[in-house]
Amino acid sequence: MPRIKMYTTDFCSYCNRAKRILESKNLEFEEINIHGSAEMRDEIEELTGRRDVPQIFIDQAHIGDDDDLAELAFSGKLDEMFNREGEGTQMEEIKKNSDGNGLEERNVIIIGGGTAGFAAGIYTSRAMLEPLLITGDALGGQLSLTLDLENYPGFFGTEAAKFIQGMQEQAERFGTEVRFDRVTEVDFNRHPFYVKTYDQAYLAKAVIICTGASPRTLNIPGEEKYGGRGVSYCATCDGFFFQEQRLIVVGGGDAAMEEAIFLTRYASEVYIVHRRDQLRASQILQERAFKNDKIKFIWSSIVEEIQGDGEKVTGALLKNVETDETQVFPIDGVFIFVGHIPNTELFEGVIEMDEQDYIVVDNLQSTNIEGVFAAGDVHDHVFRQAITAGGAGAAAAISADKFIAELENRAYPGQ
Ligand SMILES: Cc1cc2nc3c(=O)[nH]c(=O)nc-3n(C[C@H](O)[C@H](O)[C@H](O)COP(=O)(O)OP(=O)(O)OC[C@H]3O[C@@H](n4cnc5c(N)ncnc54)[C@H](O)[C@@H]3O)c2cc1C
Repeated sequence: MPRIKMYTTDFCSYCNRAKRILESKNLEFEEINIHGSAEMRDEIEELTGRRDVPQIFIDQAHIGDDDDLAELAFSGKLDEMFNREGEGTQMEEIKKNSDGNGLEERNVIIIGGGTAGFAAGIYTSRAMLEPLLITGDALGGQLSLTLDLENYPGFFGTEAAKFIQGMQEQAERFGTEVRFDRVTEVDFNRHPFYVKTYDQAYLAKAVIICTGASPRTLNIPGEEKYGGRGVSYCATCDGFFFQEQRLIVVGGGDAAMEEAIFLTRYASEVYIVHRRDQLRASQILQERAFKNDKIKFIWSSIVEEIQGDGEKVTGALLKNVETDETQVFPIDGVFIFVGHIPNTELFEGVIEMDEQDYIVVDNLQSTNIEGVFAAGDVHDHVFRQAITAGGAGAAAAISADKFIAELENRAYPGQ
């Protein structure tokens, strides 16, 4: 049996994601936490050329990070490597439930395993609809990418990853079936709706889209080339690689402030590069950032290029947008937090979207297609908070329950 080794750090949310992928496949692994060990950190860097975690090995082969692992898991290659052919795994369960034509019929399919998805799961399972929730690559969603959750009423100072795991447990306890899989195709022009994933095809009476949002990239030269080699989108994961080094954080919102403050645990200096002359972040986070001696601000500026020596980041080309002056700023790492884009490509041309590609919903969370609902950051470009995503997920679930009751000529409570 091949041996899986995973190198992690203390605060690494992407590592939690990779662990949950392996757990969902019932695969054992050895975790090697390199936090605090400069020697092991350097060893990993030398072995893989990477300055990010997790780094995963199967036997002696370097597999890559959590994204690479997710790709292996979705494509079935991970099962093949372990000669499992679905035995005792998700596939066996799927085959058992299938109607023989490969199309499994469900009342409700929830697409997305973040705050909105799990809230929808809790509500639809309590309505006895036996929902199926398909998680996508990012089990736990964006909340699994941050450290503490400070503003969800009743959960002051809670670890965000634990909070979202609790939501999943709660949804499962009431009967939500959670599958680690990715939706690759939908057909909402027929009813029951057709939903296809890597592993299986389904029919559903109602669908709730909770696919959230992903970090926006800068799309500048050097960004992709030096990804994981000094360019990062997760301070809590990769900060440890930059002890006593100089870092740039790009952005001016809450996420940029939180992550910059976190990076001061390791870095000698953190420069926040922001395109405007004032921040968008909430007042409390602005004050924390301004008070931090290690944080300095480079106002009205953008990063035009990330430069390196072929192996790792060495500098950033900055441009002042007011004066057009440019300078090469020597730097060891660039952390990017410039907002999010909604995960809606799957629904292009099918579901109505606004000019920024967010799904348009009415006040019952219904999309332009009756029976298809949307909730969370996939439609909300204003609030984008866990509590609003959770609330929308609950509302979408109640609407889906009502839709199915009407479809089946069942009385709906309160009608
Ligand atoms: C760094 C950071 C810190 C934050 N801190 C806070 C905070 O302190 N407080 C707060 O209230 N909010 C915070 N937020 C915002 C909050 O996390 C989001 O508003 C919330 O997670 C949105 O939930 P969601 O379920 O709509 O989407 P997401 O959390 O984005 O979840 C989307 C889900 O959809 C899945 N998915 C995507 N495509 C597919 C597909 N094709 N098939 C199947 N599944 C798919 C993904 O895998 C994921 O599981 C933070 C966000 C970030 C990035």
